[in-house]
Amino acid sequence: MKLTLTLWQRLLGLLPGELTVHETEWLISPQQHMPLMAQRRAVIIINRARLFAMLFALLTPLWIAVDVVALPMELAAQLAGMRLMATAAFAWLVFGHHSDGTLRHAYRAMATLFAIPTLFYIASHLLLTRYHLQGLSAAIGTGYAFLPFVLLAGFAIFPLTLLESATFASPILIADGLAWLLQWQVIDWPSFSGAFWLLTLISAVATLASMSQLAFMIALVNQAVRDTLTGCFSRRSAEEMLDLQFTLAQRARRPLSVAFIDLDHFKSINDKHGHEAGDRALQSLTQAIGDTLRHGDILTRWGGEEFLLLMPETDRQQAQQALARLRRHGLGRRPDGSPLTASIGLTESQADQAASWQQLVEIADARMYRAKQQGRDRVVAADDEAPPAAAPADVPELLAQPL
Ligand code: GH3
Ligand code: MG
Ligand code: MG
Repeated sequence: MKLTLTLWQRLLGLLPGELTVHETEWLISPQQHMPLMAQRRAVIIINRARLFAMLFALLTPLWIAVDVVALPMELAAQLAGMRLMATAAFAWLVFGHHSDGTLRHAYRAMATLFAIPTLFYIASHLLLTRYHLQGLSAAIGTGYAFLPFVLLAGFAIFPLTLLESATFASPILIADGLAWLLQWQVIDWPSFSGAFWLLTLISAVATLASMSQLAFMIALVNQAVRDTLTGCFSRRSAEEMLDLQFTLAQRARRPLSVAFIDLDHFKSINDKHGHEAGDRALQSLTQAIGDTLRHGDILTRWGGEEFLLLMPETDRQQAQQALARLRRHGLGRRPDGSPLTASIGLTESQADQAASWQQLVEIADARMYRAKQQGRDRVVAADDEAPPAAAPADVPELLAQPL
């Protein structure tokens, strides 16, 4: 037991230290990846697939010259024909393949990239077995058998989860196995099993390399998208996520709620207790909200002491309930121990018929401002909303006073 634990800790030591336990699960399957991560990863995968395809598109026809010199003319001509077809397919992937930057398109690009040489390998292998090559031509012919090794090692350049690597590597392994088994009568079993074992080992190493790339990518994306003081998403990533979530919500005609949270009388904390105490109060707020956040909700720091809470798949009524729960739980503490309060403007994409995410934020901002005017420490969720009854009893005196 102790040995397994030590082994596990050593393995985790290979990963960037910033990764939480939850994020190490992201290395196994892509299902739980946050949309922002998925989007960035898709772009990286597509770009690398294109780069790889460009290299192949250049190198594949160049090798025709070697085949012509070293192999019998008839064989070289047939191989040249296959090479030109493969080159055209690679060139299509570089220039003709349309991509909208989603993970689905990234998978498609990768599948195409690996399907072309796999088919080329099977076809060339079947062709080469018909010839009994000797000397230099035998050496060149053997070179064709290296293609699956190159392909499987190529996975190492993509940031992939364990499940994805396995899914992409298995057809290549199967294709290699089939190419050999198709000539089972003459198969040289020791060399086949040796080569197959090596292929499996290369896939395993490439998978580890892909997963470690993914781990570093998760750590880097986290650093880039988070605000250093509070650990919430930064303004820039908030805009990216709003854009993405708004598009998704509009496309599926699903509600997206956004709460604009502005802390009440925050400046007085800085004035009375200093800036650092203010910073700690901001941290206590994000900690408190983080404790009650539902899965899928996204807390972002919009600026200073203003936060945006994005609630996908949440209509106005559900969002109001979530905010009520949040306020009941508390929004953290001021340095003197009294509860932090906030004025919150709430909007929902369907109910408020927002035309863009910018408009959604504007509406939420305007309602937050009305919450301030109505006496702070409250939620305003509609434009025609009457001021609610008196503030809860635990509001500090200062906040209950009319301004
Ligand atoms: P209101 O209830 O009207 O919102 O009052 P307020 O004092 O919260 O509003 P105001 O916008 O006047 O002040 C916001 C203050 O937040 C001003 C600024 O000093 C403080 N602030 C903004 N960012 C930070 C930060 O990162 N750390 C600290 N300590 N204070 C910050
Ligand atoms: Mg403010
Ligand atoms: Mg404020």
